Amino acid sequence: MREDPRTAQIAANVAQVRDRMAAAAKAAGRDPAELTLIGITKTFPVEDARRLVELGVPDLGENREQEARVKAREVPEARWHFVGRLQRNKAGSVAAYAAVVHSLDRPELVPALANGVRRAERDPLDVLVQVSIDGDPDRGGAPAAEVVAIADAAAATGLLRPAGVMTVAPIEADPDGAFAALREIAATLRAAHPGATVISAGMSADLEAAVRNGATHLRIGTALLGGRPPLRR
Ligand SMILES: *Cc1c(COP(=O)(O)O)cnc(C)c1O
Repeated sequence: MREDPRTAQIAANVAQVRDRMAAAAKAAGRDPAELTLIGITKTFPVEDARRLVELGVPDLGENREQEARVKAREVPEARWHFVGRLQRNKAGSVAAYAAVVHSLDRPELVPALANGVRRAERDPLDVLVQVSIDGDPDRGGAPAAEVVAIADAAAATGLLRPAGVMTVAPIEADPDGAFAALREIAATLRAAHPGATVISAGMSADLEAAVRNGATHLRIGTALLGGRPPLRR
């Protein structure tokens, strides 16, 4: 698959996204090396996931458990990030293959994830507390006031490591406000858990706003792989 048209197209997209990241970092007075690009591969075939790894994007993310599990098995050379709504009965499975879970948003997921880590006999799992900035239940996320308590519960298991925060910005609103709020929440969490340095924010349409507001991890799907069929987010 060295020089097939799809690989060439994705290579051009990766270059364009890296350019956007570099320009946004420069405008914000930040070092682009602080930014991690996560390629969101949902709905795209495993071949595209492999292409991204070969093109220098080893961090990949999925939002549905079944699809994530298959791709993690087929593309073990990637570092897999689970970014979707997490159901308690699927959390144990996710804990077996994910390098990072971005969507810890309620206390009941803590024992489920911890049990998965124990069963998999793996190293502690990095977890991000997903925050809801506007309280819209559709996108998931904990109220800001609960973030530290959820991280405390995760850390207390000894099997989960609070690594930072994540949010999905409201689609219609100006993302800067949401990302600025997330940055404040991240600082509060870091005061309690100094290792919680990750700020996962920014998608294809709003990565510049995320970088302006301190994001360290960008979750990019469409700008790398193209449009997805409707109904799947
Ligand atoms: C799909 C998805 C993304 C990527 O969105 P794009 O707009 O395609 O870049 C990022 N984060 C989450 C949680 C997603 O579900």
